[in-house]
Amino acid sequence: MDLDTSLLHQTGMMMEILPHGASYWVGDGFPVRNLFPSNGLGNARLSPFLLLDYAGPARFEPSEKPRGVEVHPHRGFETVTIAYQGSVAHRDSSGASGVIRPGDVQWMTAASGVVHEEMHDPEFSRAGGDFEMIQLWVNLPKADKMSPPKYQTLESSKIPVLPFGAQGFLRVIAGDYEGNQGAATTFTPVGVYDVELQAGDQDTLTLNPAYNTMLFLRSGEVTLNGEQKFAGEAMLALVPRGVSEVKIEAGKASKFVVLTGEPIDEPVAQHGPFVMNTREELVQAFRDFQSGKMGQLPTKG
Ligand code: MN
Repeated sequence: MDLDTSLLHQTGMMMEILPHGASYWVGDGFPVRNLFPSNGLGNARLSPFLLLDYAGPARFEPSEKPRGVEVHPHRGFETVTIAYQGSVAHRDSSGASGVIRPGDVQWMTAASGVVHEEMHDPEFSRAGGDFEMIQLWVNLPKADKMSPPKYQTLESSKIPVLPFGAQGFLRVIAGDYEGNQGAATTFTPVGVYDVELQAGDQDTLTLNPAYNTMLFLRSGEVTLNGEQKFAGEAMLALVPRGVSEVKIEAGKASKFVVLTGEPIDEPVAQHGPFVMNTREELVQAFRDFQSGKMGQLPTKG
């Protein structure tokens, strides 16, 4: 360890910066790079977040048959999809459905269980084009895991946009940012802020030091706290606990997402699309899905 690094560790400001982990396809519509948990990051560091997949940017050729993920279940948490390029159509067993377009966010609370499909919007499929989304999984506390499913479509126009840097912006998708309430309703304190900066922009991000916080860089180059370069594509920076401010300077046009939340201090038992507290609850989730208790999709009308 060189001197600079040890000093940064002493001040608690050094951030761990990680490239993406596994790359895989989700169905035939989402070519993703996984930011976590495939980097080996455990629940203590991630909670309340469980998973972050970055789909694209990728170009899709025109197709009459929409690509995507066919019917599958979830229980015990929330899936949050942020659309940047392209459109996704969703239908679930609670009867909810909708299309999200660039700038929109879909915040689906699976809770006691839904089955759903996530497909490219037919219009987008027919035209083809550039596609870029993220999907984030947010855990629910034990008390809410079996609450009724819920679905929030957060249209771009409903998401508060704050200036950040001279030419940049910060969208408050969820949580409270400096007194500005985000668009989403959450079960535990969770902040999701979508930030875009132009080269030369600088500002200071304020954070709750008791939360787990991560910065997900879609693309660009920023300097953190005047010292640490955070650059490239699909990168993750872990902000140490106890930090309440991060100074950000953009060397290039940059796009990143701030994920911050109060850790849920409960055991996590996860298998595939089910995230519960115990193994017994996972077994029950499989039984309930297989016996149809999570419902089924309404037939297409
Ligand atoms: Mn899903």
